[in-house]
Amino acid sequence: MNIFHSKQDILTDFPEISLSEQGDFFLKKEIGKQFEIIDFHTHIFESISSIVPSFLHNPINNDLETCFFDLSPYPEKIEYFCFESVFYRSWPHSFWSKKGLRTFFTLLGYPKVVKLLNSASIERLMIDMSKSSINGSVIHVIADKKNQNTRFTYDKIKSHPNIWLFGSIHPFSKNKEKTVDQFLNLGVKGFKINPHVWKIDFDHPENITLLKILAKTGLPILSCSGFPISPDIRKMPGYLKKMIYTQDLNKYEKVLDQLPAFPFIFAHGGLLQHKILIQLMKKFPHTFTDISTQTIGTIKNFLSEVGCHRLLFGSDYPFFNPVFPLIALLRATHHDEERATILSGNAKKLLNLP
Ligand SMILES: [Zn+2]
Repeated sequence: MNIFHSKQDILTDFPEISLSEQGDFFLKKEIGKQFEIIDFHTHIFESISSIVPSFLHNPINNDLETCFFDLSPYPEKIEYFCFESVFYRSWPHSFWSKKGLRTFFTLLGYPKVVKLLNSASIERLMIDMSKSSINGSVIHVIADKKNQNTRFTYDKIKSHPNIWLFGSIHPFSKNKEKTVDQFLNLGVKGFKINPHVWKIDFDHPENITLLKILAKTGLPILSCSGFPISPDIRKMPGYLKKMIYTQDLNKYEKVLDQLPAFPFIFAHGGLLQHKILIQLMKKFPHTFTDISTQTIGTIKNFLSEVGCHRLLFGSDYPFFNPVFPLIALLRATHHDEERATILSGNAKKLLNLP
């Protein structure tokens, strides 16, 4: 494993990217302009404000200076950057260590991630997209219990024709059917399920009820899926372990068995459980996955096992810098036709675009 000590070190290994004044990485224009790129997995502050306690809400609309790479938990520190690992970072062996404690507080959002989220405005997303030649983005909402933030996000994005919205409904909320109708009237292009953030198992009866209601719309549903971090890290706090097991991919088969065949998208290529995901995708031919945070090796496995027509480019912006999944995808593929299919062709079909 290559250990990087500075952003300049990263630039040396990644000739595809350049470094901006604020310290973020962008795809070089001469590479980006060859493709039409749709980022199928992004967020802005309004769409994920539910994960930040309200007393820490302080959205900044025109923060164009802050370096998102420095604030993100991925990689958290330059020395942890690891392009060969899921999430492009290395993890501590135990939470009871200097690196472990540091990582624990970072995952809680302190001190940097809260600032990252508050700065993730629609204006900043548009500028960052343009710098990396990304033509369009799908923004995913993580619902609060009152289901308010799909509407708040819609108000921010409605004047942007190349931004599409996936709404979100909390499994424990009331009047789910009525909320679906309201969101369809806003023009949502699909729905997002968030087991680990909601701390609700994917196979929880209320989540299955919600999925059955959403499936009736025929629109795509994207769900977080797979272990984000290894449950084997020593001294992991119990609540964290419980949280990561909410989206254990072993829970998905029996749920999908109960649902009709609509486009179901596993986010992040199943994270650490990508091998289980490949088996699930073989069993359920109407499913897709976005390759955000995945390594070159895993993307190659997806290509040979399920093919390019069920893969989507996604980044999970602002948590991740989109250039790394972009480079992983470009390096894992050999033909421009295959690249175009994953970078935007499949997305256009799912979004019903010409
Ligand atoms: Zn996400």
